[in-house]
Amino acid sequence: MSSPVVKLNSGYDMPLVGFGLWKVNNETCADQVYAAIKAGYRLFDGACDYGNEKEVGQGIARALKDGLVKREELFVVSKLWNTFHDGDKVEPIARKQLEDLGLEYFDLFLIHFPVALKWVDPAERYPPGWAGADGKITFSNATIQETWQAMESLVDKKLARSIGISNFSAQLIMDLLRHARIRPATLQIEHHPYLQQKKLIKYVQNEGIVITAYSSFGPLSFIELNMDSAHNTPTLFEHNVITSAANKHGKSAAQVLLRWATQRNIAVIPKSNDPTRLAQNLEVTGWNLEESEIEAINGLDLGLRFNDPLNYGFYIPIFA
Ligand code: NAD
Repeated sequence: MSSPVVKLNSGYDMPLVGFGLWKVNNETCADQVYAAIKAGYRLFDGACDYGNEKEVGQGIARALKDGLVKREELFVVSKLWNTFHDGDKVEPIARKQLEDLGLEYFDLFLIHFPVALKWVDPAERYPPGWAGADGKITFSNATIQETWQAMESLVDKKLARSIGISNFSAQLIMDLLRHARIRPATLQIEHHPYLQQKKLIKYVQNEGIVITAYSSFGPLSFIELNMDSAHNTPTLFEHNVITSAANKHGKSAAQVLLRWATQRNIAVIPKSNDPTRLAQNLEVTGWNLEESEIEAINGLDLGLRFNDPLNYGFYIPIFA
């Protein structure tokens, strides 16, 4: 089983279903990437911030060596961390990340957050995270335009085939599109029934930019982080709107949540290290929820966001 693809405005095809690499620990990461490739995954969604790009690269290298896939069949995504937004810092860090991955190009490279922080030398601290050793945040003056121009030059230099953004608001995207020489191919956002962002998605899809959903299972990912709001929110896997659709189609609740996105051309990037779930999460295309079921899920919106710097203790209200 593999995933169907969606055409990006850069001309490249992107799998609609991929494997997310956040919180995949270093010890098991290479094996998980290898197992996911074996199970049929072709898209891998990584980031400098996940701190596992060397291991991701090892998993990919082993799969290539064993002939499971060819490089051109994979779609490797990574992200520019906040401390590398200064125009002259983008290319050096992109080259380091590619070296860690053992690759010559990213299929897609995203600005992880619209937050520019002061440069941190990777030799001193890597991944740099949000705050310095003193727990404080220090901003940089880099504008999104400065950072985007440096992202565009990665495409010119063939270090990235497509470039995109993550955690951006509609206002910022409108501004970006005024100056972009290369338009963002994708916008990656938190998206689940409790946080649907309908207006943002409509605007972005109308602009020909593909949406990728992260944290498709809502609070689940943030329970692992012990976030209070996640503990206090009813799990989507037991919500009767989700379970009744799941029972009707003979699918799991997780599959219903993923299909609710893919059926509207929104890409998904769940991760699992359980072989059954790994296969299950890939089978979220090729069958359809009924319109009434989609409507019922659309009715669950609470505007409830988990992945917000405010929830990590940093007063950076990018979603205000
Ligand atoms: P996730 O989709 O990986 O789901 C959370 C948990 O659900 C997993 O830990 C897993 O144990 C469980 N799970 C997976 N499949 C299941 C199934 N079939 N049945 C039951 N449980 C299942 O959530 P996430 O890690 O928050 O998001 C996915 C990916 O999105 C990340 O790995 C990362 O690549 C990306 N992401 C990006 C950003 C960003 O700022 N751009 C933020 C968060 C996540």
